Amino acid sequence: MHPLGKTSSHRLSSCHSDWKVICEALCNWVNYSVFCGHRGELAQNQAFFNGTSELEWPNSKHNSLPSLAIDMGPYFSELKNTDWEDANAFAMFAGMVLLVAKQLYVQGKISHQVIWGGDWDSDGRTSDHKFRDFPHFELTKENVWNL
Ligand SMILES: [Zn+2]
Repeated sequence: MHPLGKTSSHRLSSCHSDWKVICEALCNWVNYSVFCGHRGELAQNQAFFNGTSELEWPNSKHNSLPSLAIDMGPYFSELKNTDWEDANAFAMFAGMVLLVAKQLYVQGKISHQVIWGGDWDSDGRTSDHKFRDFPHFELTKENVWNL
């Protein structure tokens, strides 16, 4: 078990209940942090101008309340942090998030599918996108998993 830290739990509390279900299950398998849940207008437009988001307020899925989007990634206790340089570690983490979410979805425990920011069209490939946002995940009502 890898219970979420205080800051991560607080950020998760601004997210849709499906994220709470997914994150609780994920704690059984991997140590991770939540970097962002809901983003208000100022924070969204800052992210846009910094280039960390392609969208202006209120078009990001981080802007709804509760937030449909969440940013998260692996936590390494020896670093007391994530490793922002290690894209492969983020991709490996994303694989776990997607698998856990798919299982919960087919079990009827969540009502959305999940899109990862490293693979916006959910075809399993990361090399076919110019804008990649590896820590980003968002809920969708579309059948992106073809289930
Ligand atoms: Zn995001």
